[in-house]
Amino acid sequence: MSAAPPSEDVQRRIDALVALASPGATCDPATSERAARELRDLTVAAGDDERAIEAGVWIAVHLLRRGRLRESLDEALQVRERLGSPPPGSRLAAARLELLRTLALAASEADEFGVALDAAQELAGDRAVRADAVAAFDAAFALAVCFERMGNSWQALRVLDDVLAEHADAAPSFQMLYTLNGVAATALGAFHRLHGLDVDDETAAHLVTARTAAERARELLEQFDNPLYRVAVEGNLGEALTYQGELDAASTLLEGARTRAIEIGAPAHAARVRASIGAWLVRSGRHDEALRSLDQLIADIGDDGPHSTRVRAHHAAYLAARALGQHDRAIAHHETYEQLERLRTTNQLRGQSVMFVSRIEADAEVEHHRATAERDPLTGLGNRRRLTTLLRELVPAAAAAQDAFALAVLDLDKFKSINDDFGHTTGDAVLVELARVLDGAVDGDTIVRFGGEEIVIVFPRTSAQEAFAQCEQLRADLADRAWASLPPDRRLTVSIGVAAAPPYDGDHLLRAADRSLYCAKRAGRNLVVLGASPEQS
Ligand code: GH3
Ligand code: MG
Ligand code: MG
Repeated sequence: MSAAPPSEDVQRRIDALVALASPGATCDPATSERAARELRDLTVAAGDDERAIEAGVWIAVHLLRRGRLRESLDEALQVRERLGSPPPGSRLAAARLELLRTLALAASEADEFGVALDAAQELAGDRAVRADAVAAFDAAFALAVCFERMGNSWQALRVLDDVLAEHADAAPSFQMLYTLNGVAATALGAFHRLHGLDVDDETAAHLVTARTAAERARELLEQFDNPLYRVAVEGNLGEALTYQGELDAASTLLEGARTRAIEIGAPAHAARVRASIGAWLVRSGRHDEALRSLDQLIADIGDDGPHSTRVRAHHAAYLAARALGQHDRAIAHHETYEQLERLRTTNQLRGQSVMFVSRIEADAEVEHHRATAERDPLTGLGNRRRLTTLLRELVPAAAAAQDAFALAVLDLDKFKSINDDFGHTTGDAVLVELARVLDGAVDGDTIVRFGGEEIVIVFPRTSAQEAFAQCEQLRADLADRAWASLPPDRRLTVSIGVAAAPPYDGDHLLRAADRSLYCAKRAGRNLVVLGASPEQS
């Protein structure tokens, strides 16, 4: 393909997009995915096939991180056809490994085990991967996820054990941490399958494996803390200790893991830890309490809850009811437990070992938590934290590309009088309506409720004049608006302060816009002011 080399402007834009779209970028996966798509369009147009293929790989990576498994898989399969076999050490060789990893995880999550195993095996067998501990852990993990999802815990365990033995002297890494946690989760899974059968030595050995791996993983958490892995690792360790009879130590870990799982918004993990707490109560002889809390857990997770958690909850509830001499309840729990266990072995259900945290699960749950933590519950707009994230992402990108960048602070005029005249609830309704109007008027996810009735609008790639014009339009529309929650003749106006880069500094721009807003208020309200006088001490 021949095309003219990209102009300087296009090249600058490409560089900025690479910073946002590469797998190592720290912005949220949705932003990265968008950037990767734009990057692919630009590089295709510029005839830069290498970059375009790389962008395709990145799109698949970010889709996976967003939990969009099918789309990620489709994208990855398409790119794979175009990728061929790049020479070792080239940029595309690195993209190929990223692609294989994505394929392995996306396909196993999507129950496409054939595709997943092929990709994972190709990845794990790659010479460059085997030579590098971090890459090798990553690859072994992907392969183990495939085996585990297929119901083969033993094979998964072996793959993980092998890679840990092969890289026993490797420097500590996050990949080592989740490989160790994978060992703990898988060994516990194997323990549960043997539990109650007459193979005591083997079950005890699985507990030792799980405990040792979880203890090592826990040490690594000091260096590579991650809230979801902390829940997983401490939950696994607490469970192993419970079955080993070390009940005091187990209790502290399990309670901590449960609290944290709820805090970070990881309900599946919280449920799993609650099942372990039920088993702990049984072991402690507190059968009444155990049965009550397990029945509650079973009701809470319902029929669609994580399979392995349901199995374990019913099993523990059976033991508790039996100890209490409540035979009918014991039989009922045992029957459900048996049924679920049979389903597992025959269907090899996916997600059977929820504690075997895959990267997607970790990313998706943390992402979900972040999304709610950054939202204002009244209006659904972003909150202050969202603004911090937004500015941290957008300002450096704008600076790198020397793009225009503006922001506005909007404040309702005499809003207190609305509360005074119609009550706080009406005031709230007006705020919700305002949010909806703004959302319809300004495109993108860049509106933030900054304070009570103060809103910040970020305008990426918008000059001062364009931002001013948009705000002026908004101001005029709002001044004319008949508000749904107010009497038809009651008008409400806004004052807006606008500031624009340079400097490319979020805090500076916020202060500047705030000063402009203050000028607008002093000048009589219902006004937009751009670029007020310079900062006075
Ligand atoms: P002006 O901005 O024009 O100077 O006058 P104002 O009356 O709007 O004054 P100011 O911005 O200082 O006060 C904001 C008022 O907004 C205070 C409070 O009554 C109201 N407010 C802030 N947050 C909320 C909220 O969440 N719900 C409701 N109903 N009112 C709020
Ligand atoms: Mg106000
Ligand atoms: Mg105010």
